[in-house]
Amino acid sequence: MTVKSKILKTLILGAPASGKGTISSRIVKKYAVEHVSSGDKLRDHIEKQTELGKVVKKYLNEGKLVPDDVMIKFMLTELNKVGTHPWLLDGFPRTVSQAEALWKVQPVDIVLNLVVPFEVIIDRVKNRWVHLPSGRVYNIGFNTPKVAGKDDDTGEVLVQRPDDKPEAVQKRLEIYESITRPVIEFYRKKGILKEFEGRTSDEIWPQVTEYLDPLISK
Ligand code: ATP
Ligand code: MG
Repeated sequence: MTVKSKILKTLILGAPASGKGTISSRIVKKYAVEHVSSGDKLRDHIEKQTELGKVVKKYLNEGKLVPDDVMIKFMLTELNKVGTHPWLLDGFPRTVSQAEALWKVQPVDIVLNLVVPFEVIIDRVKNRWVHLPSGRVYNIGFNTPKVAGKDDDTGEVLVQRPDDKPEAVQKRLEIYESITRPVIEFYRKKGILKEFEGRTSDEIWPQVTEYLDPLISK
């Protein structure tokens, strides 16, 4: 279908822990798009101790934004690697400068914004534990590990992401309000923003599929 094949570039926005990762992985499962997550890619560089990983580690641990010049160069290169395959971008752009730089080289077709109440976000981050070797994420009260503090599959220890510690979360939310919120306005003005409200990913997901079904091929 002509309409579907024209729409290739999707962006997902939302506060930290608004469920971008969860909704993105569901989108990638259902539709023929490639997930490009700036946070996942940066964490991968840190783990592999690459040059970039060494540069960005401090920013991530403290919940601060990686500088625009580093981020723009990195992500535009990553998107070039994806080529003409449809993509879903998650975590980038996070500043208006990043949004402008992206728009110049690859105008986006669809922007999804997840709107989740603030208190839900705080609760979620406080209760989030990860098994580092596999990346498995647990949420106490929602997806509680069978044995407290241990991974279900391996029994290995679960840890908090350094940027999920309360001081870092506070910082991330402040940055989100002051620096990332204008990005939403950037896309609203372009007329391509679509917002989805809910307290959980299960509330948001049906709205997302209803919106994307006519637009993206499966
Ligand atoms: P969650 O994964 O829970 O949604 P998040 O969206 O805040 O949380 P990531 O997208 O995984 O986290 O990003 C983690 C960190 O990586 C950020 O706090 C920041 O330090 C860095 N980072 C990722 N994307 C960017 C970006 N576009 N610009 C600057 N820094 C970034
Ligand atoms: Mg993320």
